[in-house]
Amino acid sequence: MDTTVHTNAFFMELEDRYGAHNYKPVPVVIAKGEGVHVWDVEGNRYFDFLSGYSALNHGHCHPELVEVLKKQASSLTLTSRAFYNDRLGVYEKKMTELFGYDKLLPMNSGVEAVETAIKLARRWGYAKKGIRPDQAVIVVCDGNFHGRTINVISFSTDPDSNKDFGPYTPGYKVIPYNDTAALEEAVRDKNVAGFLVEPVQGEAGVVVPDDGYMAACAEICRKHDVLLIADEIQTGLGRTGRWLCCDYDKVHPQVLILGKALGGGLMPVSAVLADDDVMLGIRPGEHGSTYGGNPLACAVAAAAVEISRRDGYAENSDRLGKILRRELEDIRDRHERITTVRGRGLFNAMVIDPSGGKNAWDVCLSLKDKGLLAKPTHGDIIRFAPPLVITEDQLMECVDIIRKTMSDFS
Ligand code: PLP
Repeated sequence: MDTTVHTNAFFMELEDRYGAHNYKPVPVVIAKGEGVHVWDVEGNRYFDFLSGYSALNHGHCHPELVEVLKKQASSLTLTSRAFYNDRLGVYEKKMTELFGYDKLLPMNSGVEAVETAIKLARRWGYAKKGIRPDQAVIVVCDGNFHGRTINVISFSTDPDSNKDFGPYTPGYKVIPYNDTAALEEAVRDKNVAGFLVEPVQGEAGVVVPDDGYMAACAEICRKHDVLLIADEIQTGLGRTGRWLCCDYDKVHPQVLILGKALGGGLMPVSAVLADDDVMLGIRPGEHGSTYGGNPLACAVAAAAVEISRRDGYAENSDRLGKILRRELEDIRDRHERITTVRGRGLFNAMVIDPSGGKNAWDVCLSLKDKGLLAKPTHGDIIRFAPPLVITEDQLMECVDIIRKTMSDFS
């Protein structure tokens, strides 16, 4: 029996030594998760305020989801799409009815679903809008984050994402976020097939556009025969206090992209939803993924969506999000170093002025020492996005931790 006591440092050294250095994790080694809590290898308990970048809306190891996973894993996990399976169609029916689309195309990671949506839009542009071959343009926004493939980083405006990874893929036009005049101008180009947009920009630091932005975008796209493609990979399924973030503006995008929480925090599951005129542009053999639509993923995703609806995740996110923002604003008013608090539902950010020497990373380290895990983005922004199963009492405990931490930084 191995009786060695392994510390956080031991596992961190292993990752540093044998793993690629494409992340800079907060120095804690998580060994167990349950609901809103995780424990490190030394037995310390923390609140998870990142939720796997919103993949863990259900919290860690949701017991019902784990049961679904175990049951499905012991009967059928993978068929590939070379054959039918008895889970995929059931899941597709549920999803299309729930979200109001004709069809679903299943993928795994978020970026694969984004790539899929771009292919669908280009195909639609050639087949339906009459764009000449290889001329299709997709309009995207400054500050976007849609994933890490070469194609998707080609239209990123963040040098951390794309510097020294060129040459880049053509076919994209970047406009400012939250600028409908710029969209109106961009879509005058008859080669524009789609407008790809996050209803709230997550990785940019939870950047919330003006009220009505998505509705105005939808109207402009409709007028100019351009597909509105909403990337709700991070904002969807209750995260922002609505079932979809687009619901704030009563917008039904022609193409909807989901991921992250769709896998219930257990496995990568993503999906693109669209109506037949868009979806049937892709024919057998023209797109796919070995694991996309596998029975295990379909069973988990169907249950994940069901539980989110049944247990009112969006409603909890809306209610507790308002409380969290009120408390964070109160903390901001007492601390000059906090310049901004913003968000929707339980999807929030606090911006720290780094001029006092210590920055968002230092704040996150101090939060960790007090039992709350959060991660900085862009050096000065801390995202606060707990699992949507969090209770008000738990949230107030977390607010106390944030309050104490910020007091140390004044
Ligand atoms: N789109 C958005 C809005 C995201 O926030 C992310 C990931 O953070 C992605 C796409 C990429 O998802 P994945 O990391 O699963 O490829």
